[in-house]
Amino acid sequence: MLVCRISNSSRRIDSKKRVLVVDDSETMLRSLKTLIGEDVEVVTASSVTEGRRILEGGCFDSVITDYDVGDGTGFDLIDFLKESGIEIPVILITAYGSKELAVRTVQRHIFGYLEKPFDPEELCRLLSQALVQKTRGESERKLADFGLRSGEFFHEIATPLTLVDLKIVELRTLLDGKAIEPRVEQLLDLVEAQLARIKKIMRESRERLKAGGPAIENVFPVNVLFRAIEEQCGLKARRAGVALKMEAEGRLELVGDRERLLQVFVNLLNNAIDAVAEAPDRWVRVRASGGGEFIVFHVCDSGEGIPTELQQLLFNPLFTTKKEGGTGLGLSIASRIVKEHRGEIYYNSSSSNTEFVVKLPAARKP
Ligand code: ADP
Repeated sequence: MLVCRISNSSRRIDSKKRVLVVDDSETMLRSLKTLIGEDVEVVTASSVTEGRRILEGGCFDSVITDYDVGDGTGFDLIDFLKESGIEIPVILITAYGSKELAVRTVQRHIFGYLEKPFDPEELCRLLSQALVQKTRGESERKLADFGLRSGEFFHEIATPLTLVDLKIVELRTLLDGKAIEPRVEQLLDLVEAQLARIKKIMRESRERLKAGGPAIENVFPVNVLFRAIEEQCGLKARRAGVALKMEAEGRLELVGDRERLLQVFVNLLNNAIDAVAEAPDRWVRVRASGGGEFIVFHVCDSGEGIPTELQQLLFNPLFTTKKEGGTGLGLSIASRIVKEHRGEIYYNSSSSNTEFVVKLPAARKP
């Protein structure tokens, strides 16, 4: 038997991908099942009618069908999928390859076309690509839906936010000239600063949703970034009993949008603090080093690391393993911001702890 593996980059975490194989030859169904069945869940059908019935009753990630299937052709199945609005990549196999058939497969937007006898490796490669396309399609649909909801979200949140803003101004007016405790003053300052930050993030996100504007280019020291990170994440770390340490090798300066870059590290650190919450030894460390065109940040925590099969999904929008409060957007937002800065972000699988590496453009030395 030829051994070939379907890339698991497209595999769901919770379940295997499901593939429907339609062929009227028992022998062919058995050998296809042996070939791909280790990596995907295979459901078989021996006629177009049975294939349609199965497709009506369940969700599939891809269909492999023979052209000649006893009571019809693979095209009948493809037409049925189209009529039913089911978008699944289909691979058509045929013993009667012809130029005309190949043209018809292109016209019907069939994902793949193989003539018998085909190379099993080729089928696995096609199926792997089909599964990736299906996952990407789902992800894009979810994102489009999310974009729509984001618009609604900005609209809905604007009213209470404006109200809070006005009430703070009113409170300030009431307190004006009165002796207030330093701690109250400090808390008010903090609330005002965070409110201003929310408004700025919302304004910029709204603008980006509309146009996708470029990042503002400012030069600022890494230590300023570290202070802002401490302000944003220090309290959460202390409450969780996590030691937060940040160090830079020398005086390093970044170039980019300070607020947006802060968001990258806040997202990384919030994840890291969450991840070590149950660890016996709880620490999160950020180390920055430079020297060349880039400043390299190693964001490391005392967690156990991330399982190999999850590593390639980390930056996918909406991927989360958190039971509560996870949106699956933190890392994808971080990745987008880093890309906008022409930098790089990745998970370092060779580190013994959990480690993300972020490379960002360094300011030019005068
Ligand atoms: P969310 O935090 O909402 O789940 P993210 O995109 O920020 O979304 O993170 C996606 C997933 O990546 C998390 O649910 C978690 O499984 C994993 N992850 C990210 N950072 C870490 C980390 N430091 N340690 C362990 N897992 C992590």
